[in-house]
Amino acid sequence: MTNEYKSVADDMLKPKIKNAQLKATEIWNDFCDKKIPIQLNDIIQKLGIKIKSENLTIDGITRTSNNGICFILYSKNISVVRQRFTVAHEIGHIVLEHTSIFDDCDQFSEKSQNKEADSFAGELLVPSSDIKKFVKEKSPTIQNILDRYWISQGVAFIAIENNRLLNKIKT
Ligand SMILES: [Zn+2]
Repeated sequence: MTNEYKSVADDMLKPKIKNAQLKATEIWNDFCDKKIPIQLNDIIQKLGIKIKSENLTIDGITRTSNNGICFILYSKNISVVRQRFTVAHEIGHIVLEHTSIFDDCDQFSEKSQNKEADSFAGELLVPSSDIKKFVKEKSPTIQNILDRYWISQGVAFIAIENNRLLNKIKT
């Protein structure tokens, strides 16, 4: 493999984080009227996605039928905040038009697509513009942030770090 070829291939496999976040912002604006906490059902209905909770050994998965309808299945055995992140992640795979959820494909690209779906979900559940404004105006604690967005601590810390708000959170 020549270097030139390798760099092109690497670039294709790199997760497009910014693009995933922009898509989340677009959906929050267009389908949710900028409401907080995000109502995932609004998005699911508008996209014509079918959704169901089941006894799964994984958090969630998306399947498509022959006529192109997407089905999100999520585990009924995980907490509500984890279910919310899982469903947001699966919506990410659908709106970012990922292929590995539909076909077999190599690990690298699947990993990269999962990263994109995670970034999409994080930005969808905690829109950057909203958390920046919220922290500036209310000087919240972590608990205030969990209550506002209906998210887990892990998702909250990632949003806080990504938006460089760590030193502005009340302890
Ligand atoms: Zn995934």
